[in-house]
Amino acid sequence: MSGQSRGLLALLDRLTRAFGPQQWWPAESAFEVLVGAVLTQNTAWRNVETAIARLRARDWLSPSAIVNAPVDELRECLRPSGYYNVKTQRLRAACETWLALGGEAGIDAMPTTTARAELLAVRGLGPESVDDVLLYGFHRPVFVVDAYTRRIFSRVGVVPASIGYDDLQAAFEAELPRDAARFNEAHALIVSVGKDYCRPRLPRCSACPLQPACDHGRSQLDGA
Ligand code: SF4
Repeated sequence: MSGQSRGLLALLDRLTRAFGPQQWWPAESAFEVLVGAVLTQNTAWRNVETAIARLRARDWLSPSAIVNAPVDELRECLRPSGYYNVKTQRLRAACETWLALGGEAGIDAMPTTTARAELLAVRGLGPESVDDVLLYGFHRPVFVVDAYTRRIFSRVGVVPASIGYDDLQAAFEAELPRDAARFNEAHALIVSVGKDYCRPRLPRCSACPLQPACDHGRSQLDGA
């Protein structure tokens, strides 16, 4: 263990010291976070930005505009985000629910658990997408878990690789102060490590700030 603290809070503090403050999710409204969360599935964020710019150019960046837009034209707007047939259906379904719940104001008035359950009921909106909306759109203290989170912290050796979304989320929420700004920063830091260091193949352990506390990283360097 080399005297390294491997609590989740200590590991995240290590990332904060290495990377500094992050500024995240460049959305102008909670609804835009929803749109981004639907469109970002299985694609790069730059493609999402292109699709959102197309919606904005048509003045379609609202739930009622999307629900009422001609489906073929909406599909064309979303084409840059990939899987655009499925995403068109999912975005329309999400917008219908958003409107049925009273829009941003209606959802904002709900307890977090209620809003989460309502949004999870939308076909195609999984826990990560919903938690993105709650954290980044409504500033609720909900920890967002993604594939980076599981890969990094299982390689570090503090959670099993097979851990499910809810258990991994609960582990972070139990250890971190329940604060939306902290959760926001933590997720951004995790994404930085996942993108730049803890890649699926050939992780860059020698340069990773988590290496001294990481089982996989130490074994890589010991074997080098
Ligand atoms: S040291 Fe290597 S395996 Fe561990 S988190 Fe960093 S990149 Fe991933």
